[in-house]
Amino acid sequence: MSSQPTAPIAETARQTADRLAAALAPAPRGLIIDGRAVPALSGKTFATENPATGLAICQVAEGGAADVDVAVAAARRALVNPAWAAMSAYDRGQLLYRLADLIEREADELAVLECIDNGKPASLTRWVEIEGSIKTFRYFAGWTTKFGGETLPVSPRSGARILNYTTREPVGVCGLIVPWNYPMSMAAWKVAPALAAGCTVILKPAEQTPLTALRLAELALEAGIPAGVFNVITGFGEAGAALVAHPGVDKVAFTGSTEVGKAIVRGATGNLKKVSLELGGKSPQIVLPDADLGAAAASIAAGIFFNQGQTCTAGSRLYAHAAIHDELLDRVAAEAAKLTIGNGLDAGVNFGPLVSQEQWDRVASYVEIGQAEGAEVMIGGGRPAAHGEGFFFEPTILRGAGRDMRVVREEIFGPVLSALSWSDADDLVAQANDSDFGLSAGIWTNDIRQGHRLAAAVKAGTVWVNCFNMVDNATPFGGFKQSGWGREHGRQAMELYSETKSVWVNLS
Ligand code: NDP
Repeated sequence: MSSQPTAPIAETARQTADRLAAALAPAPRGLIIDGRAVPALSGKTFATENPATGLAICQVAEGGAADVDVAVAAARRALVNPAWAAMSAYDRGQLLYRLADLIEREADELAVLECIDNGKPASLTRWVEIEGSIKTFRYFAGWTTKFGGETLPVSPRSGARILNYTTREPVGVCGLIVPWNYPMSMAAWKVAPALAAGCTVILKPAEQTPLTALRLAELALEAGIPAGVFNVITGFGEAGAALVAHPGVDKVAFTGSTEVGKAIVRGATGNLKKVSLELGGKSPQIVLPDADLGAAAASIAAGIFFNQGQTCTAGSRLYAHAAIHDELLDRVAAEAAKLTIGNGLDAGVNFGPLVSQEQWDRVASYVEIGQAEGAEVMIGGGRPAAHGEGFFFEPTILRGAGRDMRVVREEIFGPVLSALSWSDADDLVAQANDSDFGLSAGIWTNDIRQGHRLAAAVKAGTVWVNCFNMVDNATPFGGFKQSGWGREHGRQAMELYSETKSVWVNLS
């Protein structure tokens, strides 16, 4: 019998996780400054843990203000270094394409790394974080050769013959501060347009999820991005605050809580650095009586339970018309029952733990607050019985919520849907807009006119009609009101990372 060549047997996610853990555990992960991994100047480290087990994965350097000084100096040198500053737009784009290729090469491993650091299932990290980041780097690589100025028809009073044109220049050194809920995606959303525009960056990942940010910077170096262009400072909020206050930083881009967003605005006043913010949300899901309830229920459940509700756009306020309210809630509950809760390394799991004990306590406290305010726990409300270890929290529906309740007004950032019933269409719009936030909204109706009217009436940066949580590099993403400043993705992201110069040339 001739022997057939056998294909190598792919590692399971658990095997990859064990291999990564064995490789990571022995030595602390360093900061990435000026192309090298270095310990924090203080020598301090902190543990990053696996939310599915509560156990430490490895130690990570705890960067502080002194490390931020060194990183900013490196980024300032890199900004004017001809190796970066004089690179053609085409070549800059090629480096970003190469980085995307390297992320693709490491996709399986990065998906598991994100899973063990954040808790979300590896199947989801692979799709959302890793494939999403590859697409983001390729999308912005394309912009390098397409983003420029224009010639403009100025009309000087003197009658002089003038050529007026605008150019785009990199805004400078950018401090990029990202949260733990979509660690690699949020990093990519900021790093990719910043580098495409020719800036240099210092990325500060969240203390809970530093590992993929460090790996991304290593891959950027392997891609050939010059040392000092892409630096990473791991650590706590103090490191982020030092970056925000630093006079050598020209721009800060932040995703996270509205509270910290406000602190960033205050902290950035010293040199009036440019600030863009993607902050919290309390997005309404509005369901009209003529909606396709099956499709709406499935999407409403995904809209709040995906990523365990730790999503800025989570559809956390449900406004169901009184005529279909009970049936819709039963259907959403049935969708929640289909979720497979567990360790995200196991096949078939699509609902993991919350990121930390702190976040678990916060979500649990909101369920208590909701009940004290008069809402009823229809499903969920606590730790699932089969998952003693880790920070697991059940998909939860709070029924009978009212417009003034805290669970309707505040961002819970967990798998908790606050459900309200409505019957007056004018009041519905007022209720949907009665929020400090304005990040996104969902509308469910088969009447196209109603869909468009509501899309126009709702105050939100993104409106989904008969769909939810669709995001694409080609279309702007960001919030009205206290959900943020500026828009990520698309041309608008390139604008965030560049300055416009108007040039007047007298041809008379
Ligand atoms: P934060 O907004 O505190 O953290 C986001 C990032 O900002 C992290 O990297 C954090 O560092 C950093 N940071 C913290 N304080 C400062 C500061 N003063 N100056 C500069 N950077 C700072 O979110 P949390 O992780 O604390 O989560 C708290 C709540 O925020 C959540 O429960 C949720 O409601 C909301 N949130 C909303 C997000 C969204 O996308 N809308 C994303 C994340 C959280 P570090 O964490 O390392 O200390």
